[in-house]
Amino acid sequence: MDFDIKKIRNDFQILSQQVYGKPLVYFDNAATTQKPQCVIDKITEFYQKYNANVHRGVHFMSAKCTEANENARNIVKNFINANHSHEIIFTHGTTESINLVASSFGDRFITKDDEIIISELEHHSNIVPWQLLCERKQAKIKVLPFNDKGELIIENLETLISKKTKLITLNHVSNSLGTINPIKKIIELAHSHNIPVFIDGAQGVQHQEVDVKELDCDFYAFSGHKIFAPTGTGVLYGKEKWLEQMPPYQGGGDMIDIVTFENTTYNELPFKFEAGTPNYVGNIAFGKALEYVNSIGIENIAKHEKELLDYGTKKISQIENLTIYGNAKNKTSVISFLINGIHPYDAGMILDKLGIAVRTGHHCTQPVMDHFNIPGTVRASFAFYNTTEEIDILYEGLLKVVKMFNS
Ligand code: PLP
Repeated sequence: MDFDIKKIRNDFQILSQQVYGKPLVYFDNAATTQKPQCVIDKITEFYQKYNANVHRGVHFMSAKCTEANENARNIVKNFINANHSHEIIFTHGTTESINLVASSFGDRFITKDDEIIISELEHHSNIVPWQLLCERKQAKIKVLPFNDKGELIIENLETLISKKTKLITLNHVSNSLGTINPIKKIIELAHSHNIPVFIDGAQGVQHQEVDVKELDCDFYAFSGHKIFAPTGTGVLYGKEKWLEQMPPYQGGGDMIDIVTFENTTYNELPFKFEAGTPNYVGNIAFGKALEYVNSIGIENIAKHEKELLDYGTKKISQIENLTIYGNAKNKTSVISFLINGIHPYDAGMILDKLGIAVRTGHHCTQPVMDHFNIPGTVRASFAFYNTTEEIDILYEGLLKVVKMFNS
């Protein structure tokens, strides 16, 4: 398909509105993405016509929702090229997927003095659940550092690995710096020591093709809302061999086989990990969002976003006293920056009044900010529906910010 930006933007009505009388420039896509009309329509369609709880009903509407929910699972499976649809667990998002593995894999496989390696680039969601696990089990966290460009120092990994290393976990893409990590290389190295690898793909899947079979990762997690799907949806992909060995995460309806007061047996995958009524309408719309991404083509998305990144980096680098944090060779469409003497929050507030939505602060990556000894950054994150004209508006906005602070 041709990449027709005008047509694409028409699919996202929200983008054509004005805020404070100015055309909206939405550059907060790493926090959450906007939803195309087909996703919104799918939600409406199911609540208007078919809503009924899944898996338990024999009637028409329940069967319709169950079938659509399972179809969505299959769409996810194909999207990341998993072997089986039962390796796709629906969750509320990346955070829940990480907590699920930290709790369940942790219960089964982590014992006293074991070690988990995480990277210095992680979102708090991929730090704290492992810390909680390590506190519970008296295990230890080791940290793989990054250099000042924002690239992981892979050569250090071998020295961090020991006989006690039970898991390596890191993100595919850093949300605050945009670094694309060499996960395939890390997975290969980890597997040569028989260590499984968990990938936090919250910022990965929406920007590039992800093939879990090719990567050979043991787990891969991502959030629906960051890939044009509704909030409260997410995925945990896990290799069957791990999921089969892991105990249930939460107890409740659907995850059981037979319940008596003496003993309970559990459902098969993926339902063992999906206690209670799932967000089936959300999941169905999630499937629609992935079909929409497929219709544009992830390679077209990657190409357009690379153009935005290159254009944006060049453009805003022209601003005096502006420092970009995160200059990795492989980057997605995130530009994190600071202007000397201007607090990121103040810059964000002024940009907001100009209709430009950026995020300011530590972006839930305090260790990354500590590395650079800064309180936070201004982060502009682009999606495929953004344009170079919008980057020009950001540039003009930043000139105004500088002018205000200089006067
Ligand atoms: N990991 C990364 C790299 C993220 O960027 C985010 C959210 O920004 C998360 C995890 C957490 O995602 P969620 O809040 O959707 O669970």
